[in-house]
Amino acid sequence: MNRIAVFTSGGDAPGMNACIRAVVRSAHYFGKEVIAIRRGYQGMIEGDFELMKPHSVSNIIQLGGTILRSARSQDFKSSEGRKKAYENLKKENIDGIVAIGGDGTFTGANIFMQEYPDISMVGCPGTIDNDLFGTDYTIGYDTAINTAMNAIDNIKDTANAHDRLFFVEVMGRDAGFIALRAGIATGAEAILVPESKTDVDNLILTLGQSYKKKKNACIVVVAEGDDAGGALKIAETVGNKFQEYEIKVSILGHIQRGGRPTCMERVRASRMGIEAVKALLNGQKGVMVGVINDTITYTPFSKACKTHQEMKADLLEIAKILS
Ligand code: ATP
Repeated sequence: MNRIAVFTSGGDAPGMNACIRAVVRSAHYFGKEVIAIRRGYQGMIEGDFELMKPHSVSNIIQLGGTILRSARSQDFKSSEGRKKAYENLKKENIDGIVAIGGDGTFTGANIFMQEYPDISMVGCPGTIDNDLFGTDYTIGYDTAINTAMNAIDNIKDTANAHDRLFFVEVMGRDAGFIALRAGIATGAEAILVPESKTDVDNLILTLGQSYKKKKNACIVVVAEGDDAGGALKIAETVGNKFQEYEIKVSILGHIQRGGRPTCMERVRASRMGIEAVKALLNGQKGVMVGVINDTITYTPFSKACKTHQEMKADLLEIAKILS
């Protein structure tokens, strides 16, 4: 292997910087030069490259976002765009790449490697959604659930002071992992996720029972991609039929993407970054590094992005019993 490149792509996630740092420093440790590609696949097409030294990644492990920035590149979806990217990589003598991103990033990587098999790509799962198959945790997820939990804790204070029913919408277009864990951690009365059909009549019944139990306030955590609609729509439907509480909606939005990565995030991202470099040096390609039961695993890109990680049945049960 000549030179290794690293980039971040798709939605940014806290912990990406820790992963970049690990890639740069471990590649250097094993005697390889590292090139950073800015703005994901778009930067690859435009030749937005920079030679990295170990000190280039000083003082970034604690930062959210990504120092390499990210992009959603339409150009990379065309074969002309990918050809340009390939030519730029060859010019820089790059033949190994660590891609930090989500399912779209790995779909693109898979197509690119089929067209240009002399470039090896290994992925690190970077997305707050935790929706990739082949890892228990994606980079960004732990921080996002802690951010959501802290925000909901704050909302609970005000909800309790005024007999309020809050619908709190958290991120998760296709996956309810953030909603489920943040909901359990904050003692939410109900958690609505895209993975299971939402029964609005049953929700009204549950909230009515909460009122009878003399609860001052109720929190319903809603994943943005829930089948019954987002928090606003559900609040409207329920609000018409349920008068006991004052109804409020809070959409947490992008605060869930930013912020300082948690300790676990930094450690996991560091571990994955090092393992991605080792995998490249050992001749692996087309795989995503993951951690399952605290053990490093490698899952082919095609499987990591096509198969949705399953919701843990015991967590769904916990949410039901404790609400
Ligand atoms: P997140 O899960 O946080 O959204 P992601 O990696 O899934 O992250 P996307 O925007 O879906 O984010 O994908 C990142 C980039 O990967 C796209 O902007 C595009 O450049 C590239 N990509 C996605 N799908 C394809 C495809 N079918 N062919 C080529 N490139 C693709």
